[in-house]
Amino acid sequence: MYLVIICHNCGQFLLAKTGQKTRRCPYCETRLVLDKAKKVAHTKTAQEASSVIRALKRKNSVGSL
Ligand SMILES: [Zn+2]
Repeated sequence: MYLVIICHNCGQFLLAKTGQKTRRCPYCETRLVLDKAKKVAHTKTAQEASSVIRALKRKNSVGSL
């Protein structure tokens, strides 16, 4: 299972595998603790998770970077 989480530092969506304890944000290098991270979706495959991320980015269209 995969999780889509939000980096509390830079606000980007990232993909994490369930069972992982921490995940480093590829955008700002912050170490995120998965238990405490804000989870936005739960998917079965990495592909599904990345399409969720794409959809979320489109919807929010924050795109400040
Ligand atoms: Zn970040």
